[in-house]
Amino acid sequence: MRERLDYIFSPESIAVVGASRSRRKVSSEVLDNLLTFGFTGRVYPINPKASSVHSIKAYPSVLDVPDDVDMAIIVVPAAHVLRVVEECGQKGVKGLVVITAGFSEVGAAGTERERQLHALLKSYDMTMIGPNCMGVINTHDDVQMDSTFSPIPPLKGNIAFLTQSGALGVAILEHARNVAVGMSKFASLGNAVDVSGNEIIEYLERDPETDLILLYIESFGDPRNFVRIARRVTRKKPIIALKSGRTEAGRRAAVSHTGAMAGPDVGAQALFEQCGVLRAGSIQELFDIGMAFSQQPLPAGRRVAIVTNAGGPGIMATDALVSYGMEMARLSPKTIAYLEGKLPEEASTQNPIDLIADADGARYKIAMEAALKDENVDALVVITVPPIVTDDVEIARAIWEVAQEYDKPILSSFVSRAKESPAFMELTGHGIPSYLFPENAARSLAAMATYKEYLAREEGEFRVFDVDREEAEGIISAVRRQGRTRLHELETLELLQAYGFDVVATRMAQDLEGALAHAEEIGYPVALKAVHPEIVHKTEYGAVALDIRTPDELREHFAKITKRLSSKGFEAEEFMVQEFARGGKETIMGVSLDPKFGPMIVFGLGGIYVEFLKDVVFRLTPMTDVDAMRMIESVRSYPILEGVRGEPPSDVASLAEYLQRLSQMVEDFHEIGEVDINPFLVFEKGKGCKVVDARTILTSPEDASRSSA
Ligand code: ADP
Ligand code: MG
Repeated sequence: MRERLDYIFSPESIAVVGASRSRRKVSSEVLDNLLTFGFTGRVYPINPKASSVHSIKAYPSVLDVPDDVDMAIIVVPAAHVLRVVEECGQKGVKGLVVITAGFSEVGAAGTERERQLHALLKSYDMTMIGPNCMGVINTHDDVQMDSTFSPIPPLKGNIAFLTQSGALGVAILEHARNVAVGMSKFASLGNAVDVSGNEIIEYLERDPETDLILLYIESFGDPRNFVRIARRVTRKKPIIALKSGRTEAGRRAAVSHTGAMAGPDVGAQALFEQCGVLRAGSIQELFDIGMAFSQQPLPAGRRVAIVTNAGGPGIMATDALVSYGMEMARLSPKTIAYLEGKLPEEASTQNPIDLIADADGARYKIAMEAALKDENVDALVVITVPPIVTDDVEIARAIWEVAQEYDKPILSSFVSRAKESPAFMELTGHGIPSYLFPENAARSLAAMATYKEYLAREEGEFRVFDVDREEAEGIISAVRRQGRTRLHELETLELLQAYGFDVVATRMAQDLEGALAHAEEIGYPVALKAVHPEIVHKTEYGAVALDIRTPDELREHFAKITKRLSSKGFEAEEFMVQEFARGGKETIMGVSLDPKFGPMIVFGLGGIYVEFLKDVVFRLTPMTDVDAMRMIESVRSYPILEGVRGEPPSDVASLAEYLQRLSQMVEDFHEIGEVDINPFLVFEKGKGCKVVDARTILTSPEDASRSSA
């Protein structure tokens, strides 16, 4: 059974609709690429005005082709696309690659045309990539299809490349060729009206020719679906992504801490971290890392040995490795003794192993083999500053010859040696990634170690807690009925309690008498706070009094707070009396809604300085138990929770459970736009956590109807 994307990536026959006779037109390039790359199937140029194009018989319409046509590449002007697609449908064409631009990317008229295009596809059950794309490539020997208009033919290899930008696609193909990176498949998505990036990723997951997937992403169509798919795919094949473009700033004015701290890129960052996708910062980095993954095995650990013929680059590499979180391997005494016997006296037998300037291939071999045999070494970086006296191609040969005997990763840097240099070709031609500078090698190796650790990590599970969903439902719908979006402080506490949160004893009072009675019931010491619908951060208004020990003190603070508020034009109508909690550490936990990525859970060390310290981590929902633990461990101040200076450790397991409960709550109620629990007190290990102060904002009803559409 052929699946629908097979008609795009492995067609048996292709019609090039709009094939032009004049050179240097996109349509001419597409046909030319199909021919020169040696497409194994049949090609039919379609051109109403020519009987042949590029020496091949042409047909006026796809309907005139005497055989079946699996796939059509459409390069006609935008105004003709719908007619051509209709004809393809009648002909029984299964797959379309629409290169023509002029659709939703150009405004209203284009959007309407795109809508009609989509309707046509559905009525004929066709599969389409594009429009506004630059084509697809499949280098498999049985297919050999380059349907792009890129002037540079691809190399065959095990990397699949997916790009949202067509223009950048050409640059990418060129760069890939330059650094000798081979591809299995390439697709440029264009407007992704039908086939999405997610669908192609799932296709590549099953593709035996593809070992790793490189992505260039500008925006996510369906981020949650991406997470679901990528979580699974990255367990089998690494995905390395370059994400450009910042999330739109279309964020509601944030009224809470969590909202204020969600910067424009946190959604994308959270998404990648959660599903094991490695992130590259530039095209060069994307390829650097891709090259390492495509050619070398993963390191078992982070311990790296360096072999070099010059001291300076060895130190540079050491610095770079350490800064990317790698470790310098401690060579075993046996290795050192062996090297001392074999290397010249001036050489360094410690890591980095410096072979000095006159090192030839044989000397490289001795050092590399010794390091690779050493059980304290997980990976090797081999550096060569192009020698004056010896032949660098010979050194390159020595490197790949040794590499074939070992299954530890080896990355090389022929410092400043150009990509076309014979030594570079010698290395990359034999599966050794070669970088211009040692830093690039170091960074790529670190990415491999990170991925290896990701694979070793358990996926974790999506736990479901026994909660009182009806109670929560009741609170939220009551707020909605009253036309409010902000929950009263007490409502928020009740909502959280319905999801199993522990809350400090809290009572509401209308006047001093009430407050005194509540304090008596709760027991001193207490906290007293004024509550007002327009006050968000109570401390800023002097509306919080802590550690109140007696009724007299309570009276005093009651009067002070009332006075302070009235001087600011507020009338204090309601007071909150709370048990004064001691001994916990202040954390912040919450929910913030990203316009693109949906609900995100926030965690950090809390208190009133949280916005300034910005030591918080974001994750998308839903979240596994492992995600929750990792989230807590990745805040900078995590050691504080582990206990510093003899302090007992905090109840981190309990924090992790509450993060998951919060995640369950927002998954259950998509209308929850913002939750801000600050402080969320965490006590000693085994003693749990308690909510002290929290607020919740619902999405406005218009937002809610949009998100459920
Ligand atoms: P705000 O609206 O300013 O965030 P909070 O209710 O969070 O007001 O109180 C401010 C700070 O006072 C908290 O961050 C916490 O340090 C302390 N605090 C408030 N309530 C209590 C309490 N019940 N027990 C202990 N500390 C409290
Ligand atoms: Mg607070």
